This record gives sequence, C-alpha cells and structure tokens, in this order.
Amino acid sequence: MDVIFDIIATEEKRQREGLELIPSENYVSRDVLAAMGSVLTNKYSEGYPDFDGLTTDDEATILASKKPDRRYYGGQQNTDKVERLAIARACKLFRADHANVQPHSGAQANNAVYNAWLEPGDTVLGMNLGHGGHLTHGSPVTQSAKIYNFINYGTVAETGDIDYDELERLAHEKQPKIILVGYSAFMKVPDFERVAKIGREIPGCLLMADMAHVAGLIAGGVHPNPLDFGFHVMTTTTHKTLRGPRGGLILTRGVVGNPLKRPEHTLENIPTLIDRSVFPGTQGGPLMHVIAAKAVAFGEALAPEFQTYAAKIVENAKTLAAALMERGFYCIGGGTENHLMLVDVYKSFGLDGKVVERTLDEIGLTLNANAIPNDTLPPFKPSGIRLGTPAITTRGMGEAEMLRIADWMKQVVDICVRRRDGEDIEIAKPELARLREEVREMALQFPLPSDK
Ligand SMILES: *Cc1c(COP(=O)(O)O)cnc(C)c1O
Repeated sequence: MDVIFDIIATEEKRQREGLELIPSENYVSRDVLAAMGSVLTNKYSEGYPDFDGLTTDDEATILASKKPDRRYYGGQQNTDKVERLAIARACKLFRADHANVQPHSGAQANNAVYNAWLEPGDTVLGMNLGHGGHLTHGSPVTQSAKIYNFINYGTVAETGDIDYDELERLAHEKQPKIILVGYSAFMKVPDFERVAKIGREIPGCLLMADMAHVAGLIAGGVHPNPLDFGFHVMTTTTHKTLRGPRGGLILTRGVVGNPLKRPEHTLENIPTLIDRSVFPGTQGGPLMHVIAAKAVAFGEALAPEFQTYAAKIVENAKTLAAALMERGFYCIGGGTENHLMLVDVYKSFGLDGKVVERTLDEIGLTLNANAIPNDTLPPFKPSGIRLGTPAITTRGMGEAEMLRIADWMKQVVDICVRRRDGEDIEIAKPELARLREEVREMALQFPLPSDK
C-alpha cells in the first residue's frame, strides 16, 4: 500500500485521540465520507442539470424527472440526479429560491459572487479582517483585492459587536455595490435587519452574507437566516458547522433563468448571474463526488436531530466561555452568542496566542492563535486564541466535558506563564505528558462519527 495510507491512518488517530477546538472544523459522517470517496470523481459534468432551476423539492419527482440538462458532456443520467437533489435540499434548508452547489470552496463562492455583480474598480464594504472578517473580504494579498475596491467597517471594542454606525456612514459616503456581512472570528449575531435597511438605501447595492462559519446554526434553526431579512445572496462553506464535505455553496433569492443566456444585470436576476459566474466564469468541471457528499450532508441537516445538534453547539460554547472567564480568560464580547469565542490571552495572562496554541497542541487540544480587534501584537504572534464547539459537540460532549477542557486550558496557561517567567522548559514536561493522557482518555470515550 502507498505510504499515503499510513499517513491517513495516523491522521485518523490524531483526530480520534485529540479534541478539535478549531471553530471552522468538524467531523463528517461515514455517509458523507463514502460519497466523497466514490466513482463520481471520474465524471465531467460541466454545465448545470436544468435550464430554469428546479420547480419542486419533492425528491421522488426530481428522481423521475426527464428534463433535459445543460451539460457539455454526455452520460449525465446520474450526476443530474445528484446535483438536482443537492440543489433542492440546499434550497429547502435555507429557504432560498436557488442554490449553486458547485463552488469548490468558500473562497471560490465569494469570488464567483464578486465576479457576477461587480466591474473592476467597484466598491465592496465588508468587515475588517483584523476585527474578525475573512481574507476573501478584501485582504490585499487576494486576487479580488487587486480587482475591486474593498473598504472596511469594524467592531466596537467594548461590546465586540459590529460598528453599525460606521457601517451606515461608510455605506452612504462610498455607495458600495456590495455590502458584505460575514466573519470568521466574531461571536455576536449580526443585526441583518439593520444592514438590509442600510443596503436598500443604496442604489444597485447587493446585500451579501458570507455565513461560512454559522451556516450549520442557521440550518439548525438557532441563528437568523440573512435571506429572511432581504439579503440577496448568502455564501457559505459546507464543511464548518454545516458538517459536510470541504466545499462552497451559494444561495440566492430571485428569478432563476437559463444559465446559457446572459440576463440583464438586475438584483432580481442574481441567481442566473451567479450560475454563469461559477461556470464558466470562475471554474471548470464541478466535483460531482463532493456535490454528492454535499447532498448527503444537507439531507442530514434537514433531519430533526440536526436542530438538537445546532442548539447543543451554542449551549456548549456558552458553557465553555463562562468556564474560561471564571478561570481568568478574557473573552472578547463577554462570551459568545454562537459557536466560537475569541480570548485575549495577552490581556488575561501576558501571553501571546502562538505560545498558548503550541502548548495546548502538546496535550491534544487543537485551536488557533488569532488576532483580536486593534491587536497591539504582530499577526504571527497575536494576542488572541480562537476556539469553538462544533466538532466536540458532534462527538457528543456536553457540560462536564466543557468544564474539563476549561480546567486543562488553565493548567496549560499556568505552565506557559511559569516558562515565560524563566522556569526551565524540562520541568513541566511530565505535567504536560500527564495532561496529554487525560485528554486522550476522555477523547476515546467519544468516538468519531466515522468510527460508529
Ligand atoms: C472559511 C471561510 C471562508 C473560506 O472558505 P474556504 O473553503 O477555506 O475557501 C470564506 N469566508 C468565511 C467567512 C470563512 O470563515
């Protein structure tokens, strides 16, 4: 066997014996894994399964459909069914008029929306990366930042919430073509209604929400859905709280038309503009094995148990945040309203996030160092750590486990503080080894979904 399979087996062991606290990660089901590892990867399916979108979400009707497709290769009898089901389930899950299930990733989904709606030089108003936004929302290192003009709103230090007054002022002043709400290190629930109201006052402004982190919470009914407040587009990844395969998804409200005919550039036509922008605008052949896995994951998210899961993610996050704060960790925004928390370890303990990340990794707790709003430390050694509960909740953990995790984190931080103050690195090694064993022991009591 290829050595790659040994490496995969070792990775599986790492995942099984550690606790995944990175808020953008999760563990998929066996069925999702199986669809991804299927012969669908052999198939080219450029184009779309339909001329004019789906007219039903009834799965039996979809499976019996004889509608012609809009593909560039033959042999699509099965791939059409897979993609139609993926689209129908995504629309149902998020109350959308249309879904494009082809983006290879969240970044691809965002680029496709920009490409669908903007001309070079047009202005996008999005959240500042340093305040919790995402690289794809205008970081100068990205391709989109070379093409479009990104401007940023930030958050308010005291509350951790979006600075809506700043957002409103910038929107009126700069007349952006897109107002974008989305983030990867933000712990509040946005006021979509207020942002939609601001956007409606700007002519030709597309309201876009990048819900990559919280899509699973929206699907599970524990977080508002921006489409319900008049947002035109919602992009997301499918692999974070949504617990599907690694990939992207674009949901829209509007009129669905033939993707081969260029529609007028109106907000109503955004579903068709986006289809044309994903393919052939920004991508070639779709990953049908991944689209099949997306369909399986959407099916799982439509089941009632997913609502329980989503509610438990938030409950666990609140428990963990409260336990950390009790132990001296300063949580930005005073805790969390979703699945993640941002902790200022510099303010709490005089440590940088990187050293805390590395030392926690030694005991099997995985999370990431993260900049905090207005960080005074450099990006590779920021003041914060970011952590969340989607993955550990998938494993079935609850309050007792959150408290143990908070205890372990405090013990590790204490070691970091002693080392900073000059303690020899060897002294705490046995203590770290003991903590590593405790983490492993607890992790093994909660099997991965793929082990069940
Ligand atoms: C994760 C994330 C993305 C990017 O997703 P990839 O699949 O890694 O490209 C985009 N936007 C936000 C807000 C994210 O959190």
